[in-house]
Amino acid sequence: MIIDLRSDTVTRPTSKMLEAITNAEVGDDVYKEDPCVNALESRLAAMFGMDQALFFPTGSMANQAALKLHTNPGEQVICDKYAHIYNYEGGGASFNSGISCKLVDGHRGMFTAEHAEASINPPDFYHSPLTSLIAVENTTNKGGGACWDFNELKKLRKVAKKHNLGYHLDGARLWNALVETNETPKHYGELFDTISVCLSKGLGCPMGSVLIGKKELMQNAIRIRKILGGGMRQVGYMASAGLFALDNNIDRLKEDHKKAKEIGEVLKSLAIIKKVEPIETNIIIFELDESITEGDFFNWLKAKNIHIIGMGNNKLRMVTHLDYTDSMHNFLLENLKQF
Ligand SMILES: *Cc1c(COP(=O)(O)O)cnc(C)c1O
Repeated sequence: MIIDLRSDTVTRPTSKMLEAITNAEVGDDVYKEDPCVNALESRLAAMFGMDQALFFPTGSMANQAALKLHTNPGEQVICDKYAHIYNYEGGGASFNSGISCKLVDGHRGMFTAEHAEASINPPDFYHSPLTSLIAVENTTNKGGGACWDFNELKKLRKVAKKHNLGYHLDGARLWNALVETNETPKHYGELFDTISVCLSKGLGCPMGSVLIGKKELMQNAIRIRKILGGGMRQVGYMASAGLFALDNNIDRLKEDHKKAKEIGEVLKSLAIIKKVEPIETNIIIFELDESITEGDFFNWLKAKNIHIIGMGNNKLRMVTHLDYTDSMHNFLLENLKQF
């Protein structure tokens, strides 16, 4: 039994999902002739109450396309210092769109509307990059799966409107936030100009993300996707997995959250753990104290076939997911308690 808690991306399709994949009716999606992809896109657009959606191979590509849709070269996007678009997309903002990031020093990957407003460069001050976009992430990845306060997101909408800025949500784990709060996809659709969601994380698909947005922006998205190399042919096989996941794998995210909280409680009780960050969804970030090295802790876990990941700055991360079963959970808790 291998317990892989490095990420919620390590899941494999279940036999039922594989059945949906095998039975998918497909066509050439570059010609927009794939019925499953078309169904997934219209379903997500309707779910969020937005005009259009477009299937992407990865969340990074969906975010990168969004940055391109909202900006011109030389301009600037406001985002948190922990943002995925800044830290984990290979420098794509500058490579693909020729833009820079104005980093906000937020808390757990989140910031306030006042923070954002103070980060806007005056548009007539031509010495500075022109601010054109605010991008937020929900839940936050590097911030430990934290959920934004929806009121703050509303205030940010007002700031974006007042200053004529685009407003993008990296919603790779928005599903996790949705099951923990009273908000619905439509609430998010009302606020944002573009939203990216992931199918290959908590929802358990082998691949796929979808960019959802307003028509004026989205009509150019298919061209950007083509330029980035993301036009795919009979990809309805993967979209059918997405449709299956929307039906079956959203509500169960609560189980992942429950397990994450239980792991957190055990970690807190261990002498070797200095700090466990608050656990709101499926991500657990914690720090070891000086009595043990990261290497020794990793080796102890590895000997028991337990795999976790380091996030830098002495922070370690575990992520619960669809393939992390009850028996793995019991095994992990029992072993941690014995440390
Ligand atoms: C995983 C993730 C993405 C996209 O990642 P891909 O691996 O490119 O699909 C984007 N944003 C956040 C916050 C993520 O956690």
